[in-house]
Amino acid sequence: MKVKLLLISLSLLLGGCASVGLRPIRIEEISRIELKDFCKRNNLEYTYQPFYENIILYDDSFKIELKPGLSYVSINGFVENLHQEVSYEKGKVFIPGSLEGILVRFRRRRIKDLSSFIPQEIKRIVIDPGHGGRDPGAISPWGLKEKDVNLKIAKYLYSLLRKEGFQVYLTRNGDYFVSLKGRVNFAKKRKADLFISVHTNANPYSSRLRGFEVYYGSLKFLDTQSKILATAEELYKNNNTLPVSRKNILGKMVYQENRRRTRYLASAILDSAEKLGLFTNKILGAPFYVLKYNICPAVLVEVGYLTNRYEERLLRTSLYQKQLALAIFGGILRLKNYTQKTIAER
Ligand SMILES: [Zn+2]
Repeated sequence: MKVKLLLISLSLLLGGCASVGLRPIRIEEISRIELKDFCKRNNLEYTYQPFYENIILYDDSFKIELKPGLSYVSINGFVENLHQEVSYEKGKVFIPGSLEGILVRFRRRRIKDLSSFIPQEIKRIVIDPGHGGRDPGAISPWGLKEKDVNLKIAKYLYSLLRKEGFQVYLTRNGDYFVSLKGRVNFAKKRKADLFISVHTNANPYSSRLRGFEVYYGSLKFLDTQSKILATAEELYKNNNTLPVSRKNILGKMVYQENRRRTRYLASAILDSAEKLGLFTNKILGAPFYVLKYNICPAVLVEVGYLTNRYEERLLRTSLYQKQLALAIFGGILRLKNYTQKTIAER
């Protein structure tokens, strides 16, 4: 308590406002800083090129070349003047503080340049009724087939989304077989902004289990690096003017934005189901094919258990099927509002 009081009176003495008293010193106000500390502050790595006496600072979007004795640096190929030499003393390299200000400017410009590549508003939605044709999915002890329930809910969801103005596509529109790869390719071809897979669960060991669940591709089951590469490849396969390194940076940005959207969507759908009074379980990470290989944000909803007598009876009724579609719809609308807000803030 004493310490707190002392701090408060100190800050009052320093100008009446704590934030004024505690303002961090900007590096531009310091004339120079040691290389190691500079890299730490700016999240950069560094390496020496002994033959050229060059020092290279880098991360996945920057390559900065410096040379002791020179006041010019090259940043991603652009030459900038630091107005002060990079110096070398007693085995240590010192960098002019002005470099940090230049980096901040570069980063800002880059974000502006790239923001048009980051996913925009949600317009195209692919709904994927699980199974179909020779693959019935789960079958309840009373004969209800998963593929039929999935399709009905998917169709209700389809018309709700259409009325809201989305462009909506179904991976299957009847009782026929579509491979998992075919479903993912379908979404890629239509440049889907969202992929929603609809399934119905079953558990042969426990008839008591019931409830609504949402699955997403958690990091545990994804190889982030290959997903980023796949995203970059898919998005920019027809663009020969972008260099590969830039494609990969963009791929990473899109991937990160899509992960944010996926997580948001998964919890928004569960929340929406809860608000509608449905019996819900939880959000789970899973290695399902459609979650792993889709480029766009993707979730898989297990609407209920066919092995639970009570839930199976509900799942047969169109009223309950509509309610399930409404729950998913509510989550999608919330994601739409969220993305509109974040785009406006860019
Ligand atoms: Zn299924």
